[in-house]
Amino acid sequence: MASKTLDTFLNENIKDLKERGLYNEIDPVQGPNGPKIKIDGKTLINLSSNNYLGLATDDRLKEAAKQAVDSHGVGAGAVRTINGTLDLHIDLEKKLAEFKGTEAAISYQSGFNCNMAAISAVMDKNDAILSDELNHASIIDGCRLSKAKIIRVNHSDMEDLRSKAKEAVESGQYNKIMVITDGVFSMDGDVAKLPEIVEIAEEFDLITYVDDAHGSGVFGKGAGTVKHFGLQDKVDFQMGTLSKAIGVIGGYVAGKENLIDWLKVRSRPFLFSTAVSPADAIASTKAIEILMESTDLNEKLWENGNYLKEGLKKLGFDIGNSDTPITPCMIGGESDTQKFSKRLYEEGVYAKSIVFPTVPRGTGRVRNMPSAAHTKEMLDEAIAVYEKVGKEMGLL
Ligand SMILES: *Cc1c(COP(=O)(O)O)cnc(C)c1O
Repeated sequence: MASKTLDTFLNENIKDLKERGLYNEIDPVQGPNGPKIKIDGKTLINLSSNNYLGLATDDRLKEAAKQAVDSHGVGAGAVRTINGTLDLHIDLEKKLAEFKGTEAAISYQSGFNCNMAAISAVMDKNDAILSDELNHASIIDGCRLSKAKIIRVNHSDMEDLRSKAKEAVESGQYNKIMVITDGVFSMDGDVAKLPEIVEIAEEFDLITYVDDAHGSGVFGKGAGTVKHFGLQDKVDFQMGTLSKAIGVIGGYVAGKENLIDWLKVRSRPFLFSTAVSPADAIASTKAIEILMESTDLNEKLWENGNYLKEGLKKLGFDIGNSDTPITPCMIGGESDTQKFSKRLYEEGVYAKSIVFPTVPRGTGRVRNMPSAAHTKEMLDEAIAVYEKVGKEMGLL
């Protein structure tokens, strides 16, 4: 018989979430996740995907993936360390190292899984990790899994980082100390202060780990935040995802040869979970080749980002302090923010509301992710809808 305890637990908690308006209903997308999407038979301008460069639906990637299915099949067949390492995975890792300007790279099945893998392969219970308070959930979980002492650092507060680093070193309690940060913080679109972080790391001999999930393909003409600041030789872990700007699926760490060699023998998802499919591997390699050959898509992304920002700002919206094309539109209260997003949807714009507990209470925002694939007409239409809904709700 099924567990009554479980049944009660699930029913009570789901009911509670629904009553508090915190139960997230999922909207399946019917067809590709492009600049326009179809949900429930309705076509909407899509301002919510991480497909920054439009590569998720790019014909060159699709063609490469189809060929890989013919030449290599649909699955890798094993974990990387048995015989699931195909030539296509090696090609991808070589390309990643070249792209990131490092000696070597290792790829994983996702960015989330990469953070779970890489942090705990190096850090343990005798270590400490200085972690920005706004770091991504996968960083937080990866740190927890390692059992290292987690020391929360105020967001992008370099004085706080320095004093906590100093305290950790002087305590003499830890074998190794790491500083870990998002390269781009995806809720506000702000960039980490990497030059100062690296300076502090050098002063205290900290291990440096940058998760560039939202920076790679976007910042620094596509090369990411670390390369943008010229810090390839000073950041130990350049972690990234193949699932956002790259448009496919997967995660990776780029770094020195000895680090990558260690991760290949010690990171558990690499040893115990099957490798990404041939089509995924080749499509990611193709995407990186495209980014290395030309900055056209990256330029288009920024042009569109700036266009949307200008348009919303001119209307009188508060769009925060983003350093990237990510464009938050600050609304404030939780229910107002959700209502705003719902009205956008009804008017043909898909932009998700982000509220407490993802962001602090009272700082609810609708987050817009313009991409290189949007046309000016789509952005104009979205801006017109924002104007209509903003006026209707008395925000303008
Ligand atoms: C999205 C994201 C991840 C996870 O990447 P996936 O490839 O989607 O699993 C990790 N870190 C950050 C900062 C992210 O934004």
